[in-house]
Amino acid sequence: MLELNEIDISDIQAVSNSGENPQVICSRCKCIEKAKDKGVRITEQMWLSAATSGGWRSASADTATYKMACSTCIVELYEAHIKKL
Ligand SMILES: [Zn+2]
Repeated sequence: MLELNEIDISDIQAVSNSGENPQVICSRCKCIEKAKDKGVRITEQMWLSAATSGGWRSASADTATYKMACSTCIVELYEAHIKKL
């Protein structure tokens, strides 16, 4: 079983300090992608769209559930899933 979903906005809010630009943290490899401050306030909603188009997803696999996973981890989870089929 491998289920991919869009990251929930509340999970981005949970790892972003208010007043700073939002970030996503991979629950699998712990990498962080933070919105770069170019003098424009980036909202959590904007960062969610950016992360989603960058391949970040929430993932439920047989072995674990990840609230946020980066595109690299999603590919690895997918490949592991395919091998089991
Ligand atoms: Zn990752």
